[in-house]
Amino acid sequence: MNDQTLSSSTDSDNLRRWRCPGCHTIVQVPSEEPDPDLCAVCEEKIRTTQEFRKNIAGVSRGISFVYYGLYLIVASILVGMLGGGLAGGMVASGSSAGVGLGIIVIFLVGAMIFLGTICGFAGRIMCLEVPDGFVGKRAIYGAVAFDLASLAITLTGWSTQLPPVADLLYSLMGIAATILFLVFLKRVAQHINDQKSEQRAGNVLKIGVGIFVVIILSAFLPPLLLIAGVLLLVGFVMYIRLLISLRESLRTA
Ligand SMILES: [Zn+2]
Repeated sequence: MNDQTLSSSTDSDNLRRWRCPGCHTIVQVPSEEPDPDLCAVCEEKIRTTQEFRKNIAGVSRGISFVYYGLYLIVASILVGMLGGGLAGGMVASGSSAGVGLGIIVIFLVGAMIFLGTICGFAGRIMCLEVPDGFVGKRAIYGAVAFDLASLAITLTGWSTQLPPVADLLYSLMGIAATILFLVFLKRVAQHINDQKSEQRAGNVLKIGVGIFVVIILSAFLPPLLLIAGVLLLVGFVMYIRLLISLRESLRTA
């Protein structure tokens, strides 16, 4: 069938049949030209694969940054607890150096939280490099939008006195950004057929939504914040595990 079409073609004098080494399809190429490396279809496939890999590497790097950001926040809590306890103990035992240490600890904790937050922002922005065909694209853009909104609240709070509701709004936007980021991670896992990470993302997502609801309810019933704290701790450990496993599968995707 194919051969007949070829031989009946009016251009057959100037064209010859050539088999693509990539897909083994026989196509017509100009007689006078040397053999191409691959057919147009294979060339396009390689081009999009390379682009896809480049974008995937961007997402993987973004996830690493989110991960380092989380580590900085955890480390800041540890430094605050240990350093604060040490400084407090020194002050209590009459050592004047304790006050100096206390100031250093406060500065260090502040700097680590700031750096950790910036790392997380940067990581999510790097994830915007996600390939066009990905279904999670809208989720990551939404996450970055909420990040920017919470950043705007922080910056406004530095220059003007905000009403108390701003604190609640800030927390909710931060969680909304994280929830959307989790939706994005779940889609990415789905896309690269990483079922383990997909399931983990689904579980952390449920906890994230739980925290979101509990924080809203705690505006009316403050003791509920304790539950939010426990959920945060559990969710945090699961979140770290998800980031590690997804990053690993992206590297081998
Ligand atoms: Zn081909």
